[in-house]
Amino acid sequence: MNDILFLRDIRGQDHALGMIRRAGASKRMAHAYLFRGPRGVGKRSTAMAFARFLLCREAADADACGQCVSCRKAASGNHPDIQTIVPEGAAIKIEQIRAMQRYLAFPPLEGELRVTIIIRAQSMAAVAANSLLKILEEPPPGNLIILTAEDNAPILPTIISRCQVLGFNNLSQTEVSQILAGEEEFDTTAIALARLSAGSPGLALKSADNGIPQLQERVTVMLIHARQKEPIINEALALAEDCAALKDDLPIFLQGVYAWLVDLAWHASGEGQRGFAADLSAEEMELSRAIKVRGIHQRMEQVKQARTRLRRKCNPRAVCELLLLRLTYPDA
Ligand SMILES: [Zn+2]
Repeated sequence: MNDILFLRDIRGQDHALGMIRRAGASKRMAHAYLFRGPRGVGKRSTAMAFARFLLCREAADADACGQCVSCRKAASGNHPDIQTIVPEGAAIKIEQIRAMQRYLAFPPLEGELRVTIIIRAQSMAAVAANSLLKILEEPPPGNLIILTAEDNAPILPTIISRCQVLGFNNLSQTEVSQILAGEEEFDTTAIALARLSAGSPGLALKSADNGIPQLQERVTVMLIHARQKEPIINEALALAEDCAALKDDLPIFLQGVYAWLVDLAWHASGEGQRGFAADLSAEEMELSRAIKVRGIHQRMEQVKQARTRLRRKCNPRAVCELLLLRLTYPDA
């Protein structure tokens, strides 16, 4: 059911993860959490991984060890102190909350803590919600309750007020994850190296020898000029000629441009600490905010297409001309 076993494997939820990992590591958890956010962004996986971490007997680096007896039971879905309540049919029913009330009367079976995860809490009928509210008002010691709910569904304010609410990521961040998931055709090591060499031209990397960082810099300047409504056609054509002259190293240049766009996307989606996004200049950050994740995604597609055309032995200069014009005006 759940492939993700560790908190460290969950992507794109840095705020919520930071909060719960710190809380878990210091044993200062709230007694109830509400994970709220769009559907399918990892609320449930995070709740399960958080439970495994809290019950792990050898936890290190604010995460479960994956090896101890507790982790093994949890991974097989048989840990008696991890209880999951999912909607029966369309809703969580009052009987399910009553059953929860009964086991909460007893201490945890294996250790000092029991974690109950209530999935899609927004589906509770009023009577079940009121029953849960009584539990949340005075939860028996040794229990942590985690609710997950979609953010567009109403939940009793009295329930919300008794939970620490953690927001899960918005659509643009999900979009970025999808973008990154689609980059397998690019060698990620090469991307990192190309990006690194772009940020530090002094590094003794192959791309530094043939002026790739300078070419990437010219791409950046061209896009910024285009935003400022300055004519760029001549610059694009001259740049295309210089790029085409890279010959066999042209794909390295494309990887560098692609990696740069990934960093712009991280910045545009509010995850500026990822990748090399923190190394972007003020002008690049402004550019990324102006063209937004969608515009950046369009440009990433253009880079992929250029790469495909090169593989098909299209004329490199024509490929570069088209790419540079499309990078500047993707809707043209
Ligand atoms: Zn463990």
